[in-house]
Amino acid sequence: MKTHDIYLYKSDRHKDTDFNMWLAFPGPESFALSSLGFLWMFKNIDEADNVNVEYVCTDTPMPQYRVDDLSLIGFSFTFDTDFLTIFSMLEKNNIPLRASERGDDFPLIFAGGPVVSANPAPYSDFFDFFVIGDGEDINLQVVNICKANKDKSKTEVLTMLDKLEGLYIPSLNQKKVKKLTKKLEECIYTPIISDRAFFKNTFILEVARGCANRCGFCLASYLNLPLRFMHYEDVIKTIELGLEHTDKIALLGAQLSAHPQFNKICEHIYEKVKEGRNIEMSVSSLRVDAITPEILKTLVATGQKNITLAIEAGSERLRKVINKHLEEHQIMRAVEIAVNAGLKGFKFYGMIGLPTETQEDIDEMIALAKRIKEKYKGFNISFGFSTFVPKPNTPFQWYGREGTASLEQKAAYLKKEMHKLGIDISVSSAKWDYWQAVLSRGDNTFGDFLIEVYRNGGKLGAFKSAAKKYNINADYYALENYPYNKELPWDFIDIRPGKEFLIEESKRLVG
Ligand code: SF4
Repeated sequence: MKTHDIYLYKSDRHKDTDFNMWLAFPGPESFALSSLGFLWMFKNIDEADNVNVEYVCTDTPMPQYRVDDLSLIGFSFTFDTDFLTIFSMLEKNNIPLRASERGDDFPLIFAGGPVVSANPAPYSDFFDFFVIGDGEDINLQVVNICKANKDKSKTEVLTMLDKLEGLYIPSLNQKKVKKLTKKLEECIYTPIISDRAFFKNTFILEVARGCANRCGFCLASYLNLPLRFMHYEDVIKTIELGLEHTDKIALLGAQLSAHPQFNKICEHIYEKVKEGRNIEMSVSSLRVDAITPEILKTLVATGQKNITLAIEAGSERLRKVINKHLEEHQIMRAVEIAVNAGLKGFKFYGMIGLPTETQEDIDEMIALAKRIKEKYKGFNISFGFSTFVPKPNTPFQWYGREGTASLEQKAAYLKKEMHKLGIDISVSSAKWDYWQAVLSRGDNTFGDFLIEVYRNGGKLGAFKSAAKKYNINADYYALENYPYNKELPWDFIDIRPGKEFLIEESKRLVG
């Protein structure tokens, strides 16, 4: 099948340099081609004239540069279980998993992304260094240092890299590593538009980074403070660039609609549709209080039939506990606006097992669904739930999960009651979320355990047997409440607003 990629920058495959690197994506190419951060990073390095960079995915048949010819490999690490795919990519290329087993003949290997920025400790045996936080600017500096010192030993290169802020280098015993926060002076977009991408031929651009709401469990918010917006003029210019090549536009941002000119951005696209342009626009999940007639008018005109709304918890009490100040009348108003705008449905996103949750909170969720269903007959609502996972560097990092059996009971009850109402519902696996929590609050004793999980196939049983074999007290990481004065494996990562603030916030929210 003939494929079609459009590069929005000049990519030169034949540079006069002997410094080669891979940017590696732990998933198929279709996902990589829909990953904004990954592609932007790739473009930045590809544009530099002193480095040959190739992106490599799980289904890349034969990379252009062989491992022997590489000086550097950078892995994107977005999900807790990405380590499994990363290990298999390393082994497929005959690269030892542990950094200590890779001599100077092997390239330096690093990782970046939200998981390792929040807590790199469990993975510290496997990478030579980690980029902590926004990596857009530092990656080129890393490349330059590695290139300038290509003939030096790994230890010497790592010592030089230590001069850069925002790198965690496990072999150097650093006391503190400051998270990088990028000043957003340019609008970031997918520089390759491809019909092989998961979001086919879609131009994705970032309109806002972070979220000022600071829900107690939310890593996306705490890791990306302060909330930053792209300049309106820049957003419009970037949208125009995308529209030169495709009709499919996706706007990205955890709190998109908080952009001071979001209505104007939507209006700009709406005008184009009115002029006859067949634009399909999608947006990442919206906050309920962002549902305005102006925004929905554009979404409907650009073909969107459903939207995802995160309400997190069913009762106002629990929404307050998690810092999501959202009242039922606001949810009802959002549905009303959506119905009037001609939208077909909402998918509500929520969590179960949040700290302090009781059966009443679960029943409130069902009652809310019932009220919407009765009032807006014909409007399609569905629910997606995950179970609470404590994330490092959030106010809820000290809270353990509820037991798996009790979460499964809650999930079964919710499913039964929602089905009675004729509502589709999905709930993530409490068993998998348990192991996600173990990884999330894991520490630097995890090396053998992770390798064993991988060797045994990476399924639930593999986690269980590996934990047993290596005396990993999984319940301690997943279920226990930690005291505030406990030293945490990720305390050395310096992320604003800092631990004292998180303690205060945790006390304020949960009490
Ligand atoms: S509103 Fe959404 S993105 Fe913002 S802090 Fe809450 S959960 Fe996170």
